[in-house]
Amino acid sequence: MTRADELRANLEQVRERIEKACQAAGRARDEVTLVAITKTFPVSDVRALADLGVTDVGENREQELKEKAPDCPDLNWHFVGQLQSKKSRSVVRYASVVHSVDRLSLVGALSKAASAEQKSVRCLIQVSLAAFGSADAATGASRGGVAPADVPELAAAIAAADGLELGGVMAVAPLGAEPEKAFAGLHDVASRLRSEHPGADWISAGMTGDLEAAIKHGATHVRLGRALLGTRSPLG
Ligand SMILES: *Cc1c(COP(=O)(O)O)cnc(C)c1O
Repeated sequence: MTRADELRANLEQVRERIEKACQAAGRARDEVTLVAITKTFPVSDVRALADLGVTDVGENREQELKEKAPDCPDLNWHFVGQLQSKKSRSVVRYASVVHSVDRLSLVGALSKAASAEQKSVRCLIQVSLAAFGSADAATGASRGGVAPADVPELAAAIAAADGLELGGVMAVAPLGAEPEKAFAGLHDVASRLRSEHPGADWISAGMTGDLEAAIKHGATHVRLGRALLGTRSPLG
């Protein structure tokens, strides 16, 4: 099997999983966007996915984003990783969505970068789900994001910032937690945010291991890596 055949087969399976999850949740298929997370894989894979109809791709490191995105300017690029403020300009140059806004100081840096690039950047607030019945709360291990109580302040800052558009929330289910519980908690956080900011209607949640639970609890954007591209090297 060629790599293109492999990617085609993976994509078919992923699309089927999403469709089934939408049916089970009583949701329309077009409420959920697939974001292919292509980290550690070559730009030839990105190109192949684009040829198969994938429109949205994401990276978690600025270095990889700036290496791949210029070759595929026709795609919507998402940034989903921990972001250092000093990398904001480069990320904004290539990505139209940043899923991982997790502190006030980053809002300022992104706003400056968006103004300098004369772009509008959709920002999602990364929310920590450690409070929703996870093992993380006990171990102190974190997968990033702000506590639910800190979402309103960060949201107000993004909404008021030049060049930024408040887009919604993003989360990674805590290790060792029941994804159902975590994503139900995220849904509540998202609903509260939306009551203040009606346009902030994205919920970025669900990865290869838990996309069904995320779709059940309202995910609008699922971020899939391994299911599409295969196992990553340990560094990924
Ligand atoms: C790598 C990554 C994903 C994709 O995870 P898979 O388990 O490979 O589907 C999703 N979101 C973020 C933030 C990631 O870093």
